[in-house]
Amino acid sequence: MRDTLLVCPDFSAGLCASPYCKKVHLSEDYVEVSNGSVTVCRDFATRQTCKRSRCKFYHIPVDLPPS
Ligand SMILES: [Zn+2]
Ligand SMILES: [Zn+2]
Repeated sequence: MRDTLLVCPDFSAGLCASPYCKKVHLSEDYVEVSNGSVTVCRDFATRQTCKRSRCKFYHIPVDLPPS
């Protein structure tokens, strides 16, 4: 898995709402962005849980199983 993901610049400008967009739609303002990319949270990626509140790393959304 890659450590960083590109942030969608169109999303923050309100120009992209596509669920098929391959870039990160970042709505959490506490996630750290550097050079247009976010760093993937290892804890969340491997365990689907993260002890940090307002984690500065990006949590990849997990698809919820159909209920
Ligand atoms: Zn986008
Ligand atoms: Zn985290």
